[in-house]
Amino acid sequence: NATPNDLRAFWMPFTANRQYKKEPRMFVKAKDMHYTTHDGRQVLDGTAGLWCVNAGHCRPLITEAIQQQAGELDYAPAFQLGHPKAFELANRLIDIAPDGMEHVLYTNSGSESVETALKVALAYHKVKGNGSRTRLIGRERGYHGVNFGGISVGGIVTNRKMFGTLLTGVDHLPHTHLPEKNAFTKGEPEHGADLATELERIVTLHDASTIAAVIVEPVAGSTGVLIPPKGYLQKLRDICTKHGILLIFDEVITGYGRLGAPFAAQYFDVKPDMIVTAKGLTNGVIPMGAVFVTSEIHDAFMSGPEHMIEFFHGYTYSGNPIACAAALGTLDTYRDEGLLTRGAELAPYWADALHSLKDCPNVIEIRNIGLIGAIELAPIAGEPTKRAFSAFLKAYESGYLIRTTGDIIALSPPLIITKAQIDELIDGIRKVLQSNI
Ligand code: PMP
Repeated sequence: NATPNDLRAFWMPFTANRQYKKEPRMFVKAKDMHYTTHDGRQVLDGTAGLWCVNAGHCRPLITEAIQQQAGELDYAPAFQLGHPKAFELANRLIDIAPDGMEHVLYTNSGSESVETALKVALAYHKVKGNGSRTRLIGRERGYHGVNFGGISVGGIVTNRKMFGTLLTGVDHLPHTHLPEKNAFTKGEPEHGADLATELERIVTLHDASTIAAVIVEPVAGSTGVLIPPKGYLQKLRDICTKHGILLIFDEVITGYGRLGAPFAAQYFDVKPDMIVTAKGLTNGVIPMGAVFVTSEIHDAFMSGPEHMIEFFHGYTYSGNPIACAAALGTLDTYRDEGLLTRGAELAPYWADALHSLKDCPNVIEIRNIGLIGAIELAPIAGEPTKRAFSAFLKAYESGYLIRTTGDIIALSPPLIITKAQIDELIDGIRKVLQSNI
């Protein structure tokens, strides 16, 4: 085990830091559905790492692709130069992307994909001559990573209150009309389209010609698995189309098969103008993100050389050959094992298993969509997050990796999970919930 001395230089920048340094938990190996802990225990991965290891751990095609690429072409700049894997990957991504998505920009993370999409949106309006469209709209309880643009459009005040004004000209769509109910979690279908019309209110307030883009997660993940009410996303699409506003889906979590379709845009049958992805793109193995855009957006930047120069954007590591090779190995694994649609087959079984926990102590609500689940717990009075965190620790000790966000347990197992492993995971969580947490 690690000693306090081993951990002296390591900063885990969350509040868990202090607790963690007293009681470090470590993984030293992983294979398929399991991690091995530093003390030799097997832990069943109920969260695909951080919603990213969709194909399971240490998968051979991905490992081999990385090893081979590292010995062949380790790095090539993505400015004025390229390499074959970057081109091949973009074409393969477009093959699985929703109709209308025709071009791909590379980044190194979900946060960078968000920044990239926001900048493309603003620059797009500039090159189109709609220069006054500078406002951005996010959603309350939206999560879009930790960089400045992402925390500005994100809807979590605690994530941004330390950092001053951030981006100005940002509004947030409301999370509910009915504070006591919460349209996203109780799924009040009658309020779905209703809630989206809040966008009309914001548009009227500012004048449509000032608004560049709306960014939403089709299903909000890290803020507690918030499933949109029926009709919500389509209504946002309709309003954006009517007013010439770009619609960006942040599919960092929902992308690459999590809902049982390659992307949530296909699952909900709603067409955004851009899709932001990362995580499952390389199975979480190597940092990489990708932003999908329509031809309309891409072609606008091709209309004159000066536009390309004005849109200065790109990262040293964008489209890094080893990352591209990892992504290609990941896509091969998804294809060979049918993983991008496997969630659709498993979803009913997953839903039944999850909902069997509804009578466990302190469970307020259970939510599911595709291979995502959420168990919302009653907070301990005056000690928010404590109950869920103690569930996390007990689960870890008994061999199950779960994730907590506030007082919600979030689950998103690798898409290779078997029905027997679903039963094992849910039974493990049942025991945790029945213990005194
Ligand atoms: N957007 C969403 C919806 C996310 O869930 C996350 C990460 N959980 C991000 C963006 C940021 O991704 P990253 O941590 O790779 O920067």
